[in-house]
Amino acid sequence: MSTIAAISTAPGVGGIGIIRLSGEEAFVIIKKVFSPQNNSKIEGYKIKYGRIVNPKTKEIIDEVLVSFFKAPKSYTTEDMCEINSHGGNVIIQSILNVCLENGAVLAEPGEFTKRAFLGGRIDLAQAEAVVDIINAKTKAEAINSEKQLEGYLSKRIKEIRKILIELMVDIEASIDYPEYDVEEVTKEASGKSLKEALVLVKKLESTFEEGKIIKEGIRTAIVGTPNAGKSSLLNAILKEDRAIVTEIEGTTRDLIEEFVNIKGIPLKIVDTAGIRQSEDLIEQIGIKKSLKAINNSELVIAIFDSTKELSKEDLEILELVRNKNAIIVLNKEDLNNNIVETDKRILEMGKSIIKISALKNEGIEDIYKEIEKMFNLNEINVNDGEIVTNTRHKEHIRKSIELVEQALEEINNNMPIDVTSISIKQALEQLGKITGDSVSEDIIKEIFLKFCLGK
Ligand code: GDP
Repeated sequence: MSTIAAISTAPGVGGIGIIRLSGEEAFVIIKKVFSPQNNSKIEGYKIKYGRIVNPKTKEIIDEVLVSFFKAPKSYTTEDMCEINSHGGNVIIQSILNVCLENGAVLAEPGEFTKRAFLGGRIDLAQAEAVVDIINAKTKAEAINSEKQLEGYLSKRIKEIRKILIELMVDIEASIDYPEYDVEEVTKEASGKSLKEALVLVKKLESTFEEGKIIKEGIRTAIVGTPNAGKSSLLNAILKEDRAIVTEIEGTTRDLIEEFVNIKGIPLKIVDTAGIRQSEDLIEQIGIKKSLKAINNSELVIAIFDSTKELSKEDLEILELVRNKNAIIVLNKEDLNNNIVETDKRILEMGKSIIKISALKNEGIEDIYKEIEKMFNLNEINVNDGEIVTNTRHKEHIRKSIELVEQALEEINNNMPIDVTSISIKQALEQLGKITGDSVSEDIIKEIFLKFCLGK
């Protein structure tokens, strides 16, 4: 395999930049371009100080530190070097170029991790966890993905596969060697193994909902009539949170979505541009806009000015959230003039009612507690790495459930065991696609193209 090189740090100016080299020729190439201060021989797990020099022009490119990792104990399982240079674009690019001129080829996105997979150091699910760690928008997702990189999810998959493989071995022995006295695989025995496997895959399936929450957050809409206090509440939430991720997917304000991480609970507040616009363009925020935000969300925070009688519009909002996961927030509690809390039309909604003062930042904590309760957030345990967040994994888990169920049905219908064995084999294949035990070259290629360069 060729020796690859790439810039592993993000583009832009920084304190240091890292250029990575991996492959059989990594140490040969580095020897050509690196002039260490101490000219001792190259060994693994050492860091050397020196200069990158263009061997042709003798030009000194930068003062660097080079770390050496010897195969097979490296990220890729191959010989590897990491050049730590100063963090300017020009310098980093020049170092990469000199490596390319001296025998390395430019790595494809994800190629370092792909080699770790092909080298057998990690399986496919672990490799995919690397992308999830890099792209994690919430702390919970990052922790879950770290655990998946350690192999927690793969271990679960392997346990399930083991049950099915053992069953297949028994079935095939009884089909292939009827002349030997192999105990015939009974309907009961295979039914028992299949049910055991089914419980375990279904347990993974049951984490999908949590997986969606930790990966994508809870899509939350803040709705209310003008002056109820929507933007004040949004500001109170944003102020509280120091780790905001703001996603700007387009150039217009309308496309702004805000990710708020409150004690590990990711809320994705939709249509914040609409809320903000209401400050200058009150007439724009009408029922129509609220309707869109409500339909788009998994949680609605409906906010009302507690010092004013419910208006016709307030009642329309109540109607819109009646069948939604909604929290009713009564704002401006600091004015001590709450005339809405006893309003029957609010009480009969049967929703949680939280009294706050967005202005004074009071009661916001109670909203969070309510959200925790509504979505069972306290029960989400990311430390086992068993929460399935990856869409590809979900698909294969779903298909394997269908196939195991199909096998069970075939057994119940007294179908010949070789028919059932086909369904079991297919279920095994689906699970194997998660860890990469049974997956095609094309899919592997596709998966690694999602990585960034240099990873
Ligand atoms: P929006 O139109 O729903 O976004 O409402 P705003 O957040 O812009 O608030 C409307 C007005 O109510 C502003 O003058 C705020 O200062 C005021 N306001 C918002 N929350 C409170 C609160 O908790 N107490 C008091 N006294 N005033 C508030």
